[in-house]
Amino acid sequence: MKIGIVGLGLIGGSMGLDFCQRGYTVLGVSRRQQTCEQAIAQQVVREASTNLALMAAADVVFLCTPLAILESTTVQLLPHLATHTILTDVGSVKSPIVAAITPRWQRFVGGHPMAGTSDRGLAAAQTGLFIDRPYVLTPTATTPADAVETVAKLAEELGSHRCYCRPEEHDRAVAWISHLPVMVSSSLIAACMQEADPSVLALAQTLASSGFRDTSRVGGGNPELGMMMAQYNQSALLQTLRTYQQQLEATIQQVEQADWRSLEQRLTATHEARSAFL
Ligand code: NAP
Repeated sequence: MKIGIVGLGLIGGSMGLDFCQRGYTVLGVSRRQQTCEQAIAQQVVREASTNLALMAAADVVFLCTPLAILESTTVQLLPHLATHTILTDVGSVKSPIVAAITPRWQRFVGGHPMAGTSDRGLAAAQTGLFIDRPYVLTPTATTPADAVETVAKLAEELGSHRCYCRPEEHDRAVAWISHLPVMVSSSLIAACMQEADPSVLALAQTLASSGFRDTSRVGGGNPELGMMMAQYNQSALLQTLRTYQQQLEATIQQVEQADWRSLEQRLTATHEARSAFL
């Protein structure tokens, strides 16, 4: 089976490394010639080109470009594909992508590997990125079962475990555990930067350690990805942000009123609830 990857960045590059190591022939297309050359040199792909025509030989194509150009890239890609080719994407939002691509290519399977880092581009690609992570597939009523099974098996070869849901369910769920955390974490960094005393700010920057590293990681990541989450998952994200705002207001009240009993109850409840998410 020949695997095609369009968009040799963090996700596409990491997939290429793993599939190459497992013996697949991986063909890659990326925007810049320099990236294509690096991808061959780093054994991310066997062959690479800036021309989508390379995908004519692929049996399965993973679309790994930024969300904003997934649809337009698909439109340019489709004339090159063999009729049996399975097309899948890795976009972090599913409803608009699945709605846009499903009518254009019958053998399309929406997908989202739940893995990433705060870096971007081919230089950030790494082996084993998807191990023990959920790989969400969002087939519709018309998605061919063999196409879904092929993508699911490839996801398992990356070390991921498959997970199925409807595109809308996916978008609501990831709003809670992925998109809201990006906005909360970014607000945390922005709030810290509002410290008026430069010496206190400098001290805070010196003292910042593992707690700040954990809580600021996703907010300090790829800005393009955060923007895409907000634009493409706007209504689900807004709903989670409003609920979060209520929680923050409640915390402010508890601290303001020195209501330590309620605060302790809340912290105990969140301490107990966290493990169900991880
Ligand atoms: P990324 O590191 O920026 O990689 C995207 C790559 O696509 C770029 O490096 C660029 O490579 C290439 N590209 C841009 N325009 C292109 C075009 N017109 N044709 C072909 N290649 C093009 O981004 P990423 O984090 O891998 O994200 C890619 C996708 O994965 C997104 O849809 C995102 O929603 C999804 N995703 C991201 C994460 C995450 O945590 N980062 C997790 C799961 C899913 P060159 O310019 O160097 O050629």
